[in-house]
Amino acid sequence: MERRMSKFQKFILQPDNQFCADCGLQGPQWVSTNTGVIICDKCYAIHRSMGASVSKLMSLNSNDWTDEDVELMLFIGGNAAANAAYEAFVPKTCKRPMPDSSNQERAKFIRSKYERQEFVKPSMRLASSSRELTLFSKQEDSSALGFVGLIRVHVIKGINLTVRDFMTSDPYVVLTLGNQKAQTCVVRSSLNPIWDEKHLLSVPHATFPLKLVFDRDTFSEDDTMGDVSVDLQPLYAAVKVQEAMGDELGNVQVGKWVATRDNDLSCDSMIFLQNGRLLQDLKLKLKNVECGELEIQIEWVPPID
Ligand SMILES: [Zn+2]
Repeated sequence: MERRMSKFQKFILQPDNQFCADCGLQGPQWVSTNTGVIICDKCYAIHRSMGASVSKLMSLNSNDWTDEDVELMLFIGGNAAANAAYEAFVPKTCKRPMPDSSNQERAKFIRSKYERQEFVKPSMRLASSSRELTLFSKQEDSSALGFVGLIRVHVIKGINLTVRDFMTSDPYVVLTLGNQKAQTCVVRSSLNPIWDEKHLLSVPHATFPLKLVFDRDTFSEDDTMGDVSVDLQPLYAAVKVQEAMGDELGNVQVGKWVATRDNDLSCDSMIFLQNGRLLQDLKLKLKNVECGELEIQIEWVPPID
């Protein structure tokens, strides 16, 4: 319990938790424990009006925090992570409240956000249509395990990486997902390294991105060679399709993540079934660096019943 509390204190000090999740006011003092957001006095009043089945409220300084409340807050990850889910699709025409917004503006947004869940990904909205279940409810079967599934990330190869040594580079890849970290071997002196390595990671929530950062091995501090971020929601949506269809699908394409200017894809990423395995091929364009691409394949590994 003590260790959990100190973890919680650290969590409260996260930069994103210093501002109200709904209006951005600094120094929020209220927590909605089932939605995972930390909010200000004014937004608290509106949360309270929606009832405890939508938003279960508690003071940040309350002594009534249970282990489960703390655990769920840590699991969700704070205001930024919660908003990534609850505000995934806020239309441009919708006005986000500011610290000095009127109660009416505030209420309109907050009710759309939590009560009707208008801004979450449609597939997730369906999963939580019952008011008893919020987006992050622990009661939802899969997340009771603390994760929604596993992915096996096959780091295949890098293409045309940037030159950072005098002659060439000794690159490796660091994979992160939530709190987990994995790392490939170093490939000596190559700008087109082939790793061909598989790493298993658990997916805490479909909205958590998989991040891959390139580094090079040197005697001095490692020097980053670019990074990419992979949205796992298209794959998770395909998982839901597969679950709904059972084994009738055969070897077919079940989804696609389209390359746009806002993501790191070099070309459209196909999600397909192959001999009962759900796979996604990705060719990614490194960002924060001049050049380079990365080829990976992700396999969805369902949780064991
Ligand atoms: Zn607020």
